[in-house]
Parts: sequence; structure tokens; C-alpha cells
Amino acid sequence: MKKLTILGSTGSIGTQTLDVVANDPQAYEIHGLAAGSNIKLLIEQAKQFRPKAVCVAEKSLIDDIKPHLPIGTRVLYGEQGLIEIAAATDADTVVTAIVGSRGLSATLAAIEAGKNIGLANKETLVTAGHLVMKSAADKGVSILPIDSEHSAIFQCLNGENRAQVKRITLTASGGSFRDRTREELEGVTVAEALNHPNWSMGAKITIDSATMANKGLEVIEARWLFGLQYDEIDVLIHPESIIHSYVEFVDNSIVAQLGLPDMRVPIQYALTYPDRRPTPTESLDLAKLGSLRFREMDFDRYPCLRFAYESGRAGRSAPTVFNAANETAVARFLDGAITFLDIERVIEQVLSRHVIVDLPDVAAIAEVDAWARKEAATI
Ligand code: NAD
Ligand code: MG
Repeated sequence: MKKLTILGSTGSIGTQTLDVVANDPQAYEIHGLAAGSNIKLLIEQAKQFRPKAVCVAEKSLIDDIKPHLPIGTRVLYGEQGLIEIAAATDADTVVTAIVGSRGLSATLAAIEAGKNIGLANKETLVTAGHLVMKSAADKGVSILPIDSEHSAIFQCLNGENRAQVKRITLTASGGSFRDRTREELEGVTVAEALNHPNWSMGAKITIDSATMANKGLEVIEARWLFGLQYDEIDVLIHPESIIHSYVEFVDNSIVAQLGLPDMRVPIQYALTYPDRRPTPTESLDLAKLGSLRFREMDFDRYPCLRFAYESGRAGRSAPTVFNAANETAVARFLDGAITFLDIERVIEQVLSRHVIVDLPDVAAIAEVDAWARKEAATI
């Protein structure tokens, strides 16, 4: 029996995690559910899965939720509540499925409390990969990837000698605008950008997929999860999202992981590893598909990916700035305050103004993150 706490239970990854749980109810016990402000769904989830505690974003939401919860359910709120629900329940695994670097303190608290992490919240590794990985190693806990590309690499590495890896390749669908030129990106709308061809995801990651910032975040995420150099991490456009990623070894042999795009497969693998169990998903029929396409990544077409590699290579506080500037720019685009192409302009300008901080600790990261958000909000 796996004891789970899910941070971000009402989102795309959170609801699919609960779908995995509902499909195999004997295998799991839900200890904590944390959400933002979707109280209606959180109440439904609490009635179905009977967590010991729930957490909401704001104190003001407590009165809306409390009367509708099963008797005895604890209600927490805010940043402190998130930290407490991540660390102080009897869960053995915490699924981090909230968006953005705001998930960092709760993730670190869960690790400190000895919980294994099912990691969807990639921004936490981008902003503070050195701290998260060190803390996990010190505590002897596992960080199991939920992101489909990283789950693929993790699966390809099963039983292999890591020293014999030549390179890994993360595949990218290309997002909502994969068949448009840069000129055709001028004036695209929020609704168009939110229309992803292969995956149904939260708004922020869907925009990140269209700008390719998502692949950039994933390159940095892979650097930390698998202990690689940036020269060992490639990216490739693969519009069908069937090959989720692959590893090339020193003998030129390539091992890839394939499947129809359905996040419940990598989510479940993170929860059942090293076991595999049936999922309520469809199986892949390559004959029916007929062919798969691949295209070299174009770093001029997707400058956000270039900024991510540059930030990753610069290291120290640069990835924190890349991430925070991107989060702010995407939020502004979703609010209609800036255009789609402004997202990359904002990131580039904030990065160019940043004076890199060496070996940033949690406090320095928070400071740099806040600085980058403030800059990005005014450009
Ligand atoms: P989403 O927007 O659908 O869900 C976000 C969740 O966080 C919601 O439950 C929301 O209520 C909750 N939340 C927001 N503010 C909160 C707060 N202050 N306190 C607690 N909870 C809060 O996002 P998503 O698409 O599920 O993505 C979640 C994470 O997983 C992101 O880091 C994303 O990059 C990553 N990821 C998502 C997918 C996907 O298919 N959706 C794939 C790979 C990785
Ligand atoms: Mg991914």
C-alpha cells in the first residue's frame, strides 16, 4: 500500500494521479490533498479519497470548504499549510503537481521529512536543482520523474551503467504553433496558444510548450535528475509524441521508450516503480500509425530553448532567473498584457540584467526569484 500526498490535486497532473489511484484503489491510501482555489473539485476528491488533511491556497477559503468535508479532515492553508501537508502526514510519497517555483519550499520540506517525491513540478528542479538533489541524496529519498520525457529516460536507464551513456535525447511535439513560421507568430491569441495538438495540460505548461520554454525547463530538469552535462542532452522535434525520449550508449545502441501520449502511464510508473501494473490507457499500434516524423530542433525559431541552455550552462542563479522571468511573462501573456513573442523578449532582457550569484542557498534563490519577477513584470 502506497501512502500518498498530492500537491496540486485539482490540476491536470493531480486529477490524473487520482485517476491512477481510483483504478487500483487497494494499492493506495491518500493522506493529503492540496489545491489552489478549486474548492468544488477538492471537496469531491476529499469525499471520494478520504484524505487525513487538505490544504487550500487562502485562509478565506476555509469556511467555504470545512462544512462539506468528511468529519475529522484537517484543513490547512497557504504556504505554511502546503509545507505542513507535504511533510507532516504519514505519506511515504509526495506527488508535486503544483505549477512553478512556489512548489520549492514544500518539496524541500517533504524531502527533509524523508518522503519520496513523484516529481511533476519541474520548476522546482530548474530553480534549485543543486539543493533539491543534495537534500534528496542526504536523506536517501528517491526523486521519481513524472514528466513523460524524464520517465522515458529513467525507464531506458533501468539496469544500465550510467557511465556508459553517450547522450540522451528529449523529444518535443513542437506545441500549438509547430507548423507556423516566426512571422506567423505575430499576433497569435491566447486561445490559439492554449490549443495543444497532443496533450491536454494546465495553461502554463501549454504556453511553455508553444514557446519551447518547456523543453528548456526539461533540459535543466534532466541535467539534475540524471547527473548529465548539457552537451550530453539533445532535443528533437517529433510531432506525434510517440517516442517519449531515448538514450544512446557508448556502443551507439539506442534505447527508447514509446507509447501513446497519456500522462497516466508515467504517473503510475513513478508510483509503482520498480513494478509495472496495468493502466486504463490505450495500447500503441505502430502498424496503424504507419510512420513517425522527426525534425532537427531550430534554436532561432525557438529562442526560449536557447536561453534555457545558456542559463543552464551558466548555472548558479541563472536558471532561477530564466524560470521566474518565464513564469511571469507567461502569466502576463495569459492575462492579455503582452504578446506571445513578448514572452521571449522579457526573458532575454531579464537574463541580460542579472548579476549571477554563486552557490545560491534557499534564501538567495528566493531573493533572485523575486527580483526576476519584478523585472519581468515591468518590461
Ligand atoms: P494545472 O494548472 O493543471 O494544476 C496546478 C495545480 O496546482 C492545481 O491543482 C491548482 O489548484 C494547484 N495550485 C495552484 N496554486 C496553488 C497554491 N497556492 N497552493 C496549492 N496548490 C496550488 O498544472 P499541471 O498541468 O497539472 O502542471 C503541474 C506541474 O506538472 C507543472 O510543473 C508542470 O510543468 C508539470 N507537468 C505537467 C504535465 C501535464 O501533462 N499537465 C506534464 C509534465 C509536467
Ligand atoms: Mg514533458
